[in-house]
Amino acid sequence: MVQKNQKLVVEIVDLSSEGAGVAKVEGYPIFVKDTLVGEKVEILVLRANKNYGFGKAINIIEASPDRVEPKCPVASKCGGCSIQHMSYDCQLRYKKNKVYQNLKRIGGFDNIEVEDTIGMDEPFYYRNKAQYPVGYDKGIITGFYAANSHRIIDFDNCYIGSKRNREILNVVKNFIVENNITAYDETTGRGIVRHILIREGHFTGEIMVCLIINGQDLPHQKELIEKLREIPGMASISLNINKKRSNVILGDKVKTIWGQEYITDKIGDISYEISPLSFFQVNPKQTWKLYSKALEYADLHGEETVWDLYCGIGTISLFLAQNAKKVYGVEIVPQAIEDARRNAALNNITNAEFFTGKAEEVLPEQYEKNQVYADTIVVDPPRKGCDSVCLDTIVKMAPEKVVYVSCDSATLARDVKYLGERGYEVKRVKTVDMFPWSGHVETVVLMSRK
Ligand code: SAH
Repeated sequence: MVQKNQKLVVEIVDLSSEGAGVAKVEGYPIFVKDTLVGEKVEILVLRANKNYGFGKAINIIEASPDRVEPKCPVASKCGGCSIQHMSYDCQLRYKKNKVYQNLKRIGGFDNIEVEDTIGMDEPFYYRNKAQYPVGYDKGIITGFYAANSHRIIDFDNCYIGSKRNREILNVVKNFIVENNITAYDETTGRGIVRHILIREGHFTGEIMVCLIINGQDLPHQKELIEKLREIPGMASISLNINKKRSNVILGDKVKTIWGQEYITDKIGDISYEISPLSFFQVNPKQTWKLYSKALEYADLHGEETVWDLYCGIGTISLFLAQNAKKVYGVEIVPQAIEDARRNAALNNITNAEFFTGKAEEVLPEQYEKNQVYADTIVVDPPRKGCDSVCLDTIVKMAPEKVVYVSCDSATLARDVKYLGERGYEVKRVKTVDMFPWSGHVETVVLMSRK
């Protein structure tokens, strides 16, 4: 029986979906952060639950050839990156294998080929969005939450965020200190500044700064504006009001205090307006590669009717509309659909139409009422995958092709299996690394009607 505080020497045999090493002691799995497959490690058992435990590596006895020194000094503490100790090349192999294993185990596909992961040439400074919590530790601190906690690590030099964040963060931090503005305290619900949100247009260089505050107004806001507007590219400064005592970072209300309400960025030839509350992919370079792959799989020639389910702000829909006769997007969040329509107009795209609602309700309704048709259906669902009613309707509509974009290869494998049993076969599987140094992987699968 493995017990808390026990020291053990173990071999790491697997990696969890979050990127932690997994050891097995007489079949009992122990998760050990910052370790790699094949390593022999001395661990201290931190927790021993009934079915699994957690350990801390105290000595790497035999290191994997794929082990590298993390670039970031707070990599092992920070809740952001989970696999900075793994070489980038190994990450790409790991992600491809993860998808392969899920398709095999969950999907039951024995001889499936997963193509090599599309990685980044320079897998740093890729994120276009950062949300820094603000707090106290002797003085005002800003940084990142430690893994699985709300303890703030005081740090302003993140290697996956934009290089420009540091300067912006320092301006805001100095403003807070100089004007004696309080930081929000989660335990008491008092204090003003909760988070600092920075977004940057990757291709346009436009910058947005939004302070999330526990109140209606920010004292001395003029001084903040004076300082921030000097930063090249500054396009939008706003306040987001969040008085709720919850973990949710953003409140519903945004007040623009300087500049525009949004910044603009591009993916390929399509421009998108992004406001503080908009969802937008955080790695635009890789998003372009992912969508290009989806477009390649869809193989459009200008005559096709395409449905894009779970379309968000229409990112994929507008991308596909360039080569299709008509694209229909479906999305549950009404603001996202407003963004999608605005972005369509911004790009003079007139062949995209959007529906607000659940994919599993809108699609059957449209199919039954209006006998809508599709040559290709693209889906990009959240982690839980597609509802079976949605999949059943896809089968009824019988499009020639289904392109499945997924951020969770376990539910992808389940859904692809479901379609596989109902007349579709997998033609191609590609993985794209949208989140270097984390265990996440995006997959795009092309299925054709048999
Ligand atoms: N394709 C988009 C967004 C993908 S994220 C992009 O690449 O930007 C998944 C989206 O599905 C989210 O926008 C979420 O709001 C939406 N969603 C979640 N459940 C849904 C449902 N049942 N029906 C339709 N959309 C849903």
